[in-house]
Formats: sequence, C-alpha cells, structure tokens
Amino acid sequence: MASGQEIVVECKNLRKSYILGEVRVDALRGINMQINRGEMISIMGPSGCGKTTLLNIVGSLDNPSSGQVLLEGSDISRASEQQLTEIRRKSVGFIFQFYNLLPVLTALENVELPMLIAGIPKDKRVKRATELLEKVDLLRRKDHKPDELSGGERQRVAIARALANKPTILLADEPTGDLDTESGQAVLSLLKEVNKTENQTLILVTHDSNIAREANRIFHIKDGIVASVENVS
Ligand code: ADP
Ligand code: MG
Repeated sequence: MASGQEIVVECKNLRKSYILGEVRVDALRGINMQINRGEMISIMGPSGCGKTTLLNIVGSLDNPSSGQVLLEGSDISRASEQQLTEIRRKSVGFIFQFYNLLPVLTALENVELPMLIAGIPKDKRVKRATELLEKVDLLRRKDHKPDELSGGERQRVAIARALANKPTILLADEPTGDLDTESGQAVLSLLKEVNKTENQTLILVTHDSNIAREANRIFHIKDGIVASVENVS
C-alpha cells in the first residue's frame, strides 16, 4: 500500500454461518480485505457466494459469526448498540437493488428521512434534501411518490437518500440490477461522480463486468472467500 493512504474498511477473517434446521450454510468462510479512503471497489461473484452477506456485515446491518470489521480503525463488533446506531446513521449509506424507498413519502421526504431520524431540524433537512435532489437531477420530481417515478429515477432518489448524512462509505448492492442499460449507466455515473468529488468510499456489488471495471479494484468472491483481487486502474 502506498504511503498516505488510509484504510477505511478492513475485514479480518470474517465468517458467517446460517443455521437452517439441521443444515449449516457457511455464507462467508474467512474474508480478508482492506479498502482505502476514496477507493471505488467492485465485488463480483456468482449468486449465493456471499456478496450481500458481506455488504450487510460491513454496514453493521448483520453480525459476523466470527472475525472483525474495522471501520476507520474501530472494531464494530465491540461497539455498543448505541454506537452501532450512530454508525448506521452517519458512517454508512446503503443503496439496494430494489431501492427500498417508502411508498407513502414523496421523493423529497424520502431523502429527508435519514436526517429526520438523525434529529436534524426541518428547515435544514429540506434545504439539504433539495440540494441532493438537484445533484441527482430530480428536483422537478420532488413531490412525486416512488410509484410515480421510473426505476432509474427511484434509484437516483435512493442515492440522494444514502448521501443525506454524508456517510464515509457508500454500500451499493446490485444498484443497477433492476435497470435497463441506459438508466444503469446514469446511476453508475452518478455513483462515480460522488465517489470522485466527495472522496466517498464506494463498495459496489455487481454482476456486470462492464460496470465492475469502472472501479479501482475488483474483489472476486467465490464460496465465501476472496478468490482474487484485480487492479483495474
Ligand atoms: P449473494 O448476495 O452473493 O447472492 P448471499 O450473501 O445473499 O449471496 O447468500 C450467501 C449464502 O447464504 C447463500 O447460500 C444463501 O442462501 C445463504 N443465506 C443468505 N441469507 C441467509 C439467511 N438469512 N438465512 C439462511 N441462509 C442465508
Ligand atoms: Mg446478493
């Protein structure tokens, strides 16, 4: 690693098993990775190899069976419930394949939501949510509900929402998986732009090798371990 680089995410021998009745599924079997601040990382691998499990654990939505995740040097398995809530709220922004927007809220209100939960006053929330919708080029849709938006537009609202609390890391689980090529490209350009201009670390799971190649490095996962790491640029 070149000097001056700062590791923001480190996984040390991360394991995760699920017990289903008599059967144990070893979803992660000893994942090791180090990701630097501002890097864009793609995670590729066949369906069922553990990509979503890995992302959820890095984002503290799930616990590993053993091993460690260090976010900016702190071991999240040692964090209290209150600290974990803070991490989920402030350090991590999640983007899902199927957007996970709240259907009863408008685009603007969806973007406001994480700030509402973080206790930010209404006027500040609306101001920031407006700026974010402008950034994703959807201000004209601010009063639309998710079912009045296209898939690509929904995902751009979801990106604006993920950025609301200025997270250190953006985690995107197949963010273009449900989109046509053109909308997928728009979502990808937006993620790349945020990664560049805000120096936000981006970890993106994708099936699409054209998308994966936009990253600095590709982690190839196979059967719950990192099979290889490919340097792209
Ligand atoms: P990917 O995202 O790469 O398709 P996942 O991380 O979703 O893979 O799943 C990895 C493995 O763990 C799969 O075999 C899957 O069936 C299993 N798995 C995932 N979540 C659960 C769960 N909540 N309970 C039991 N098994 C699970
Ligand atoms: Mg998955």
